[in-house]
Amino acid sequence: MISKEKILEVIEGYDKKKLTLATVCSHTSLQLFYSAKQENIRTLGLVTNEAQRKMYDAFPLAKPDEFIDVEDSNKLPEAELAERNSIIIPHGSIVEYAGKALDKLAVPVLGNRNSLLWERDRVKMFEWMRTAGLELPALIDPDKIDRPCVVKHAGAKGGRGYAIVHSPEEFYAKFANQDVMVQEYLIGVRVYPHFFYSPLSKEGYRASDGHIEMLSIDRRFESNIDESYRTVIAGVPIKPSFTVVGNEPLVLRESLLNDVLEMGKDVCEAADKLFGGIPGPFCLELICDENLQFYAFEISARIVAGTNLYPTGSPYSLFAFDEPMGTGRRIAREVKLAAKADKLGKIVY
Ligand code: AMP
Repeated sequence: MISKEKILEVIEGYDKKKLTLATVCSHTSLQLFYSAKQENIRTLGLVTNEAQRKMYDAFPLAKPDEFIDVEDSNKLPEAELAERNSIIIPHGSIVEYAGKALDKLAVPVLGNRNSLLWERDRVKMFEWMRTAGLELPALIDPDKIDRPCVVKHAGAKGGRGYAIVHSPEEFYAKFANQDVMVQEYLIGVRVYPHFFYSPLSKEGYRASDGHIEMLSIDRRFESNIDESYRTVIAGVPIKPSFTVVGNEPLVLRESLLNDVLEMGKDVCEAADKLFGGIPGPFCLELICDENLQFYAFEISARIVAGTNLYPTGSPYSLFAFDEPMGTGRRIAREVKLAAKADKLGKIVY
């Protein structure tokens, strides 16, 4: 892993009036480019194929100012990025496909790149959630499976390849000798709140050395489980699958907001203790059961795709900002504020 000192050196050499926000053209890139433009920051899109570039012709207001072709997301062009005073905005596709390449890259990344290591490793992520004091699904030894469990592959993202098993026999028939985690299947409503932690100001909902904002909430649409009622009524038997296809908005009972804000604060403070904090956006994946108890099963230590619902803000950001404010714009705003106050070192690594 490249040292923070080296990244601070790189940032020191940047022209702070000519910063570029760069990301791989996927996941939340439309939102990120659109939002950076609103904050008058230059944008750079890294493309791995022609289809990616073509998509922006349909969405001209969200097209980056410049494209750079890369062979694959694992080979990010360090010199070209640094020349343009770039800050990389990490998102789900970067974590999934360029995670390791990012470890050594001498270009500042928004947030704390240590957090991406904790997100990539499920065992570490559970340690993080435990340190935050969150309620978690039980992790079950395959030999002792006594209830419905979700089996997740180490690297599987976006729900792909997950399966439900009910017994050790079923587990070994499907997953013998595979690197997987077995979690108790949680029953309830999925709630994915989107947070932003700023170490630049202590105004608002205090957390760590700054404050957190809860900018929006989504719920995912996963195939085939989220349409299964139709399939069941149609009499078609299916095996549940959890591949994420899209997202839909959600607002919570107002009386639940305190719990969610406290969980955001606790996750933020646990990150401080374990690996030096998580400036910028992060998201929790929660299930709320019939007793209104929340269980967490995942943290995303960066912008999540559910924020794509809210490029102009949400029913929550409306109560905190006097202007349209989605996560993408909040990121661009933070970069601007930090550059102005000469505090970029606090929000990148
Ligand atoms: P993940 O890759 O952890 O985000 O999980 C993908 C999807 O699988 C989630 O959005 C949930 O719908 C489902 N899921 C994951 N873990 C659990 C769990 N422990 N209990 C119930 N559903 C889960």
